[in-house]
Parts: sequence; structure tokens; C-alpha cells
Amino acid sequence: MRVILIGPPGAGKGTQAKRIRKRLRIPHIASGDMLREAVSASTPLGQQAEIYMKKGELVPDNVVTEMIMERISRPECEDGFLLDGFPRTLQQAKALHKALARSDVHIDHVLHVKVPDEEIIIRSTARRMDPVTGRIYNLKSDPPPKAIIERLIQRSDDNETTLRNRLAAFHRQTEPMIPFYEKQGIIRRIFGLGTLEEVECRILSALR
Ligand code: AMP
Repeated sequence: MRVILIGPPGAGKGTQAKRIRKRLRIPHIASGDMLREAVSASTPLGQQAEIYMKKGELVPDNVVTEMIMERISRPECEDGFLLDGFPRTLQQAKALHKALARSDVHIDHVLHVKVPDEEIIIRSTARRMDPVTGRIYNLKSDPPPKAIIERLIQRSDDNETTLRNRLAAFHRQTEPMIPFYEKQGIIRRIFGLGTLEEVECRILSALR
């Protein structure tokens, strides 16, 4: 099964993807995580991407598209994948469509996780990551155990100014690709408020 998760930054795509990938038994491919790894490793790709990520802007289409195409062409993605954070522009969506069509495969489901902007700001500024396990917590909705609270870090692009830029980029650059998937009849809207279990349930029933 080939699935795409769309949603504003902080809508819970990554958290939900980690929950459902095990059930679907397909690799979870998160463009943001791949880019952050490249930044930490200071690769040429990472150095280029960091300039945009710091400002909350999108990394140029060709850079991200090339990175994802290489990843999904690996054998472990042959039977499917769960894409989280890619595609994020109409150009990326079209490039993905073209590349898959060459192998005579297609996307089965596009899930659009919807969360109001103001809720995104509240959520994301309370988001913390455990650098040891990679687990994401939320100080309000999904609090960490007290014993590890000291070691948690905040993503550098989870401050309010950068977040507002990321939200603006979502509305301006990502939302225009929704009609592309509507025309194909494969997009489903997921109400993104509620507990993690509730949202997961909505996602799984949309995939059924
Ligand atoms: P995320 O972890 O998905 O919120 O992504 C963090 C940042 O990585 C974004 O704000 C962008 O700067 C960059 N990024 C991730 N995925 C993409 C993409 N598909 N296209 C362009 N930039 C991306």
C-alpha cells in the first residue's frame, strides 16, 4: 500500500505515522527527518537544506524530490511506503506521480490531517524530542516521564516565528496540490483534533 500523509506542521503526522507503520508493515519515510539527519551529518545536501529549514521555508523541490526518489526506489519500498512530509508542493506531487507511473504503480491513499492554525501554534511550541530515543512528546497532550524531562530538546524550527512561516508555506505551497489528488479521487480528510488513539482510529478506518 502506498500512502501519503498531508497536513500542516505539527498536525501529528509524524506521531501518527509511527503508530500506523507497524500495522501496515510498510516503511515510514519522513522528508523532514531525512533532512534533519543530513543537517546533523553536515552533508552537502544538509548544508543546503539548513538555510531554508531555519527560516521555516521549503527546501527547493529538486533537492527534496531527488532525495525521496532515491529512498523509495530501494527494495524495502517495493510493496509500499508511508510518505510523511512529501510531497509538499504541486510540483513534487507531479514528479512523484510521474516516477511511480514509470514503474506502473500509483498512490493508493492520500490522508489530509486537518488541524486549525491556532491549535498548531499551541501544540508545536509544547513539542519536545527525546534525543536518546527519537520519541516525540507534547508537554500538554502527551507528557514525558519526569525522569527524562531534563534531556528533552525543542526542535529549532518549533518557535512561534518560524512556525508561522511554516504554516504560511503550508497554505501557500502545499494546499494547492490537494485538487490534484481530489481529481484522482484518492484523498480523504481526517479530523486531527482529539486523543492520539482517536486520530489513529480515524486514519485506520479511512485506509480500510
Ligand atoms: P517537517 O519535519 O516535515 O515539518 O519538515 C521540516 C522542514 O524540512 C520544513 O519546514 C522544510 O523546510 C523542510 N522540508 C521537509 N519536507 C519537505 C518537502 N517535501 N519539500 C520542501 N521542504 C521540506
